[in-house]
Amino acid sequence: MPGQTAIIIVAAGRGTRAGGDLPKQWQGLAGKPVLAHTLAAFAGFGRVVLVLHPDDMLRGLALIAGGATLIAGGETRNKSVQNALESLAGSCISRVLIHDGARPLVSPALIGRVLAALDQHPGAAPALPVTDALWTGRDARVTGIQPRDGLYRAQTPQGFRFPAILDAHRAHQAEAADDVEVARVAGLDVAIVEGEEENIKLTYPDDFARAERILTHMDVRLGNGYDVHAFTEGDHVTLCGLRIAHDKALLGHSDADVAMHALTDAIYGALAEGDIGRHFPPSDPQWKGAASAIFLTHAARRITERGFRLSNADVTIVCERPKIGPHAAAMQAELARILSTTVDRISVKATTSERLGFTGREEGIAAIATATLVKA
Ligand code: MG
Repeated sequence: MPGQTAIIIVAAGRGTRAGGDLPKQWQGLAGKPVLAHTLAAFAGFGRVVLVLHPDDMLRGLALIAGGATLIAGGETRNKSVQNALESLAGSCISRVLIHDGARPLVSPALIGRVLAALDQHPGAAPALPVTDALWTGRDARVTGIQPRDGLYRAQTPQGFRFPAILDAHRAHQAEAADDVEVARVAGLDVAIVEGEEENIKLTYPDDFARAERILTHMDVRLGNGYDVHAFTEGDHVTLCGLRIAHDKALLGHSDADVAMHALTDAIYGALAEGDIGRHFPPSDPQWKGAASAIFLTHAARRITERGFRLSNADVTIVCERPKIGPHAAAMQAELARILSTTVDRISVKATTSERLGFTGREEGIAAIATATLVKA
């Protein structure tokens, strides 16, 4: 379909059924306002028009950082949508998605299904069939059974061809439950596309707890790293950033901190971003003798840039000597400092290989590491 897509996010309500002092769309969810999640969900799908209460405009400006248009809402939800639609009149918009600001968990797949259905229908909206039995009741007593056949739970975004929904809203001055109702009154055919259980509308305090669980459980990344460095002549080794006196040194292009290399690779692995060699090529002379904290600091920055946080890391050093135990706490503290986290999330332990193999013969030191990242 030619023309562009606009997304109207309706967030002008003052609803505080969710508890707290702020309207629900401004409350925090997994570290940022609900609306920030909602806006992020639509990134790349089209031009965003955010409809806010007139009192929230300054807060909105900070949130959108130039990436969307702000429109003041009206007395009712219906009026708010009309204001946004009128702001698009005369533009090259050919289809519009209208979405509740309080549904921050909408997925790209669901948005794609609604848009795809608009090729065939003037309107399309996600819904889920009702699967629970439905009763009528009064005073905590069941008074009847309601057939559930053909009943759906409506969600958003509700999508429409733009001129059709603009005309429908102009003709509809009464209040409406949603935009599908407005479209139906105007005689538009609205297709039902498959909704998602996780596309919840945050209404009550429990909904926030559920959304938080979904967000934090949704994207957990695990990475492992393994590294070996051979011994050479020298008087100390560097492990987890600590200089430890020893009768040998570790051979390597950088400071040969085998443990920190394993941990850095575990983080790159969790992000599916290759390994240290990809980010800091050994062929590049500027990394000769470099402190490996440079590598781990870079990996830590990539965690943040990719929208994750480090949940925990575990490092195991394999060697007969030097003894690691006396230094383990200081090693944990140094890694935690570089990774901007607390020591209870960083483990450093050691094992020997029972004098077997290259580590047993004291030809070198091996290290393995695991890191868990969680979407922030
Ligand atoms: Mg290495």
